[in-house]
Amino acid sequence: MKYLSEYREASLVQAILGEIQRVVTKPWVIMEICGGQTHAIMRYGLDQLLPPEIELVHGPGCPVCVTSLELIDKAISIASNPGVIFTSYGDMLRVPGTGRDLFSVRASGGDVRVVYSPLDAIKIAQQNPDKEVVFFAIGFETTAPANAMSILQAKDLRVENYSMLVSHVRVPPAMETILSSPENRVQGFLAAGHVCTVMGYWEYLPLAQKYHIPIVVTGFEPLDLVQGILMTIQQLEAHRAEVENAYSRLVSLKGNTEAQMVITELFMDCDRKWRGIGSIPLSGWCLREKYSYYDAEQRFSVKQITSEESPLCIAGQILQGVRKPFECSAYGTICTPEHPLGATMVSSEGACAAYYKYSQV
Ligand code: SF4
Repeated sequence: MKYLSEYREASLVQAILGEIQRVVTKPWVIMEICGGQTHAIMRYGLDQLLPPEIELVHGPGCPVCVTSLELIDKAISIASNPGVIFTSYGDMLRVPGTGRDLFSVRASGGDVRVVYSPLDAIKIAQQNPDKEVVFFAIGFETTAPANAMSILQAKDLRVENYSMLVSHVRVPPAMETILSSPENRVQGFLAAGHVCTVMGYWEYLPLAQKYHIPIVVTGFEPLDLVQGILMTIQQLEAHRAEVENAYSRLVSLKGNTEAQMVITELFMDCDRKWRGIGSIPLSGWCLREKYSYYDAEQRFSVKQITSEESPLCIAGQILQGVRKPFECSAYGTICTPEHPLGATMVSSEGACAAYYKYSQV
């Protein structure tokens, strides 16, 4: 297939749905890892078209959603500094910190700018040598290569007024946290295709074996998603637990090894707090000591900031597949996209925002 429209072709999707119907014999719970997949499922109503035996639950693969409250508070503290131009992707501006968000910092005079790439932030740093320019580097494995490259570029160009507030997280440790929880309901995973484009899927082989769970690398179009679900169901019904690739047009076993080398050069594994979930050992990437000059947490001395999350927000349970957005008492009442209480209602990849936008509940 050549064109995007072909991956949205209703007759092809219906044919695979028919095959799923034919294969499934009992209830199964499948988690799509990525918030982009959640939004595509809700947008095209795929959850409504599946046989009732299949329940989809929504995973933690939304970087805006899982960036810890503490890091948002650190971002707000740095951005409030009059000598700073704080740059970030747009979604992060509306994510509530403990008392305020980055938008309110901008409203009260802070220089907070939306950028589309860390390279835009480097340009801003070159144009404003008398200011400190900070880039809020959030994301999974997908965005890490570009963020890493920006530091190499800053070094090459001798841009010394550039630093990064790093909030990188990794998918495999989050999957292991879900699988090892006593509350776990997930019986099969749709792995996030774009993450695997960078990292390959070799990291998932031991997980599938250890927890006897099928993992299918899956894309983001309706045809990709139903194909991933079909392959997962086929494995579950046959008691198989393998890693399969339903996104082979972009993903290989080893992934993009050059991108992985850049990541390894700049970052090392570190413990990371996930919003609503808590600290997961070695689930993040932090800058290596040799690049600590570019670490905004050190440059602005905000490492000591700690924060308490709202007990009302159950996003952590939603992102582990234990609850659904409509089970939150704040959903659609005191938490809406206009007045979000949690990050999953803000992000364009958040499960609560997807339900609010597309579902009838
Ligand atoms: S509806 Fe709002 S408060 Fe409830 S879980 Fe979602 S983001 Fe959190």
